[in-house]
Amino acid sequence: MLSRWIKDVSWLFCRTGLRRGHRPWGGVGRGSWLSLLLSVLMGFGILQAAPMQAAAEFNLPPLPYSANALEPAVDGSTMKIHHDLHHSAYVANLNAQIPTFPELASADLTTLQGSISKYSAAVRNNAGGHYNHSLFWTVMAPAGKGGQPSADLVKAIKLAFGSQQAMQQQFNQAAASRFGSGWAWLIVKPDGALAITSTPNQDNPLMDLPDIERGTPILALDVWEHAYYLNYQNRRPEYINTWWNVVNWKDVNSRYMATRN
Ligand code: MN
Repeated sequence: MLSRWIKDVSWLFCRTGLRRGHRPWGGVGRGSWLSLLLSVLMGFGILQAAPMQAAAEFNLPPLPYSANALEPAVDGSTMKIHHDLHHSAYVANLNAQIPTFPELASADLTTLQGSISKYSAAVRNNAGGHYNHSLFWTVMAPAGKGGQPSADLVKAIKLAFGSQQAMQQQFNQAAASRFGSGWAWLIVKPDGALAITSTPNQDNPLMDLPDIERGTPILALDVWEHAYYLNYQNRRPEYINTWWNVVNWKDVNSRYMATRN
């Protein structure tokens, strides 16, 4: 019991960085002496250092707003379940693949999508789920806070679709007609032009898979039932239409600009 407590304290010091850079003989204060005592005990092999948390495993990003901030377009219960349970499960299941594919421990989530064909279905589904949801939260904002498409983006939208309304109609069509679970996307293709596409399950346009129109996603809509069923039941088109009220154009604009640099 005592050793467990000391281990926990040791771990805490490890986490807070108090032990880093401490000078055993020059230190003053209670923290330093406790730290010194722990060092001595560890030196005698009485204590073993608790392993530091692996630095590069995948983490669930917090929602950038409160769970009910997108109401009435997306209700708070849906957001909470979607983020805290669904997204968190993708992260946990992806981390569970690290022992099988150790290189995942240092993989960049976005880069990983581009070589997903080398991996198992479990990695594909969960790395996709983690990437897609991380993107999804940021391309939404409370109604009235998301700004408008920038002049540059409007220009690109007009070039590709004729008008913003036409773009949204095509996007809605892609989202509504995705059979079963999946996503609708506004992407920047390798040639710089905008396009609308959709993917099944947790696939996305960055993945090096056949049947995927590839590009950099700048806007995404989750059309899995878990994204809307509590509030809209089977009325997916109503969810899609209402969702435009909570698009975070500021984020979409900066994602678009990033593809042009
Ligand atoms: Mn989802």
